[in-house]
Amino acid sequence: MRFDILTLFPALCETVLSESVIGRARASGAIDVRCYNIRDYSEDKHHRVDDTPYGGGRGMLMAAPPVFACYEAVLADRGGEEENPKRRVVYLSPKGRTFDQSVARELAAYDELILLCGHYEGIDQRIIDGIVDEEISVGDFVLTGGEIPACLITDAVARLVPGVLSAEECYEVESFSDGLLEFPQYTRPYEFRGEKVPDVLLSGNHAEIDRWRRERSLELTARLRPDLIEKLPRGEENAPKKKTGRKQHGELSEGERKE
Ligand code: SAM
Repeated sequence: MRFDILTLFPALCETVLSESVIGRARASGAIDVRCYNIRDYSEDKHHRVDDTPYGGGRGMLMAAPPVFACYEAVLADRGGEEENPKRRVVYLSPKGRTFDQSVARELAAYDELILLCGHYEGIDQRIIDGIVDEEISVGDFVLTGGEIPACLITDAVARLVPGVLSAEECYEVESFSDGLLEFPQYTRPYEFRGEKVPDVLLSGNHAEIDRWRRERSLELTARLRPDLIEKLPRGEENAPKKKTGRKQHGELSEGERKE
């Protein structure tokens, strides 16, 4: 999957998206992330990209010409094709649909994601009308620019792309994968400052472990995010959780388990 980020601060996005899992996925070719500096496409002799809003008001707006020119350069980079149903152009905006795991799953179904970062007081409406498929917000608050939201969305979507996560980092059993928060997890040492790992996790009984995890997920979600419980399909809160499999249960021998 390819991600193109149109921004005034490409170095900011590059820094975030060059490390750890996403950095490795880029190096391996599982995803392709490119950051474009909108300022490079300004025809103004001082490379200005902003101007005052018509009708008055405080602050500056990003102007349409450099953003359109940058967008057209991205399309040219992709072979010049205008229409592609597997491409989504997203403007990061506090006015947009709120991003969550289900939106991440939707976006991961596209082959190409173009993320447009605003700055100042936002962007000229003609950019939104002309090239944007959808506005997405990362929450009901206002940031100084779209770069952090663009990195956040790239991270959340990229980890759903096959080949980005290793089997150990699998996303199939984690918070939101089945509408619930993830159950509590433990690793060695078995006992830490008087606190022991729950016995069931050492039992080797996978059915019991699955049941315990499901119950803890439900308890935790009801306490921390009751809104998620209300969104579960009717009866789902009683359904057995899908099996996590030996990998998630760990392959520790009895001796290793209590080490
Ligand atoms: N005047 C705009 C408004 O009231 O809706 C806010 C502009 S904000 C200061 C500058 C840029 O930051 C926006 O154009 C957008 O790209 C980005 N931004 C700020 N908050 C955001 C959020 N919650 N989600 C996504 N992008 C956001």
